[in-house]
Parts: sequence; C-alpha cells; structure tokens
Amino acid sequence: MAKLFKTTGVLSFLLIVVLFFYFVATEEWNLVSILSLVLSAILGLALVAVGDLMDRVDRLEENLNIYRQPEIEEDQIQQVTCSNCGKKYDMDYPKCPYCGHSGSSKIEIR
Ligand SMILES: [Zn+2]
Repeated sequence: MAKLFKTTGVLSFLLIVVLFFYFVATEEWNLVSILSLVLSAILGLALVAVGDLMDRVDRLEENLNIYRQPEIEEDQIQQVTCSNCGKKYDMDYPKCPYCGHSGSSKIEIR
C-alpha cells in the first residue's frame, strides 16, 4: 500500500515535468496551467509523504512485534497430516475429516 502511494507521488512528479515542458513548448502560461503545476506538485509531495509515513509505521510495528510472543502458535491446534490422502487436519479429530482414514498419521510440528 505504501508503495502505491509513493509510485503515484513519483508519477505525479513526472506529470509536472511533462506539463512543464508542454507549457514551455506551447507558451500557454495562464492561471490554469500554473495552478495545475502547483496542485500536482502538492499532490505528489503529499502522496510521497503518506507513503513514507506508512513505511515508517510498518517498520515500527515490526520492531514492536519482536518483543511479543508469536500468537499464531497459541490458538491453533497442532496439525496432523493424513497418511492416506495427505491433507492436514486438527489433531483433536479422531480420524481424517476428508477421507475418514484413522490410521497412524504423521504429527507435524510447526
Ligand atoms: Zn485423509
């Protein structure tokens, strides 16, 4: 998502360059052309800033997660792989819910 903002921001800067040369070539300097240049400059800056901010927040969250215990392991039941059909299912099933096979299943520790 942050990448999208940054890319759009950079693209609007490219648009400014294109518009600038267009206005130079056609000598169409009026209020509308100058305003559109200024507006796309502001828009580009804002988009890059937002993208950068999102990157920073992502990195901050990553750093915070280091000190937290992984939550996935706790609330997920250990999975076993069916020796008959090869599908994974929760360990607390007496037999495979897919094919009904109840033989020795390989316990997979994640
Ligand atoms: Zn099975």
